[in-house]
Amino acid sequence: MIWDRVFELAWESLRAQSYPVGAVLVDPAGEITHSGRNRAAEQSAPPGRLFGTTIAHAELDVLGQLPQAEYDGHTLYSSLQPCLMCLTALRLVGISQVVHAGADPLWNATDDVPAVLPELIAGQWPRRTGPADGFAGSWGSLLPAMWLVAYDPESAAEPSDLMPWATIERARRCVAGGVLECASAKEAYQLAASLSRSD
Ligand SMILES: [Zn+2]
Repeated sequence: MIWDRVFELAWESLRAQSYPVGAVLVDPAGEITHSGRNRAAEQSAPPGRLFGTTIAHAELDVLGQLPQAEYDGHTLYSSLQPCLMCLTALRLVGISQVVHAGADPLWNATDDVPAVLPELIAGQWPRRTGPADGFAGSWGSLLPAMWLVAYDPESAAEPSDLMPWATIERARRCVAGGVLECASAKEAYQLAASLSRSD
């Protein structure tokens, strides 16, 4: 299951205090060929992979592993809406589809970017699909909210246009309820679901 793997990766990031985003590349046969995750807050990584920098994004972690080749029919799946840097990297690598779980309205305007680019770049700008419905969409958005509550409480203290207040409040209940101590993503979302049911 693609989203299960994506969220396992995002969970590893969150447990390491990095921003919780995971990503995988899926080939035209539907197989996961490469996986990556955010390591912005970490002191190490597998050889050749980014860590300890704010640009250590999950999508870039996947793309940085790829040899120069044709990637027709490949799709990058991310647990969160990709940023402009990662969309540009997708375009440069030649991957034309990205599917994301959670929403990140900070980057909604990237849909307008092709309009200001030359046709050479704009013509193959990656098509973004998301946020996902149901579990994947809500979990993909909840993870960054949990990170904010746990590691940037000042930003989580006030409502903003970038994250629905209901998501922040749910994240607060999850953090208070010990969700961050769960070793696996599966355990985490079971506990998060039981905390939501007891509201
Ligand atoms: Zn990015």
